[in-house]
Amino acid sequence: AVTIGVLALQGDFAEHLTALARLGIAAHEVRQPRDLAGIDGLIIPGGESTTIGRLLERTELLGVIRDLAQRGMPLWGTCAGLILLAREVTAETRARHQPLLGLLDIVVRRNAFGSQRESFECDLVVEPLGPPPLRAVFIRAPLIDAIGPGVAVLACLPDGRPVAVRQGSIIGTAFHPELTNDLRFHRWFCELAERATVHTV
Ligand code: GLN
Repeated sequence: AVTIGVLALQGDFAEHLTALARLGIAAHEVRQPRDLAGIDGLIIPGGESTTIGRLLERTELLGVIRDLAQRGMPLWGTCAGLILLAREVTAETRARHQPLLGLLDIVVRRNAFGSQRESFECDLVVEPLGPPPLRAVFIRAPLIDAIGPGVAVLACLPDGRPVAVRQGSIIGTAFHPELTNDLRFHRWFCELAERATVHTV
């Protein structure tokens, strides 16, 4: 059986833990490096990416999570979590000090949908989940501005803009599957974690 860690420094980690509990998946909060012991995958929740990034740095989780991911541990970031996984945030939307994990070869633009569309929902075809479409909730969501050659797009908005990506075992979604009752994305991530092999040095 798989155990999932949920980064619990700030943001909507409780909703992720609830989704995992409903699936019967063992999960616990990650607040410091020792909480990473025994997990097969880590979820980085939505929230405020600058705050989470600074706390990741202060707790030394930033480097430890980066190492684990580079050794094959699956990571999934939702919204602020997607921002934290990115290689780069556009200069206009980057905070003065915005620590990033830098594990996804993408450039993101924070709060990219403008004030009249601060939050919205739509139905998305998410490639690995198959039909029916997934109800996707966007809240002050980032936009993916540029994508490197090793990154696969898993879902796009109707206008073609990518909102879910994957690079190996690193997954990022601009929307929040933890805020709906559809558990398919969480189930898929747990399956990925179950199949992954983490290479310890
Ligand atoms: N706007 C937030 C940020 O830039 C992300 C919003 C969210 O996670 N719902 O950190």
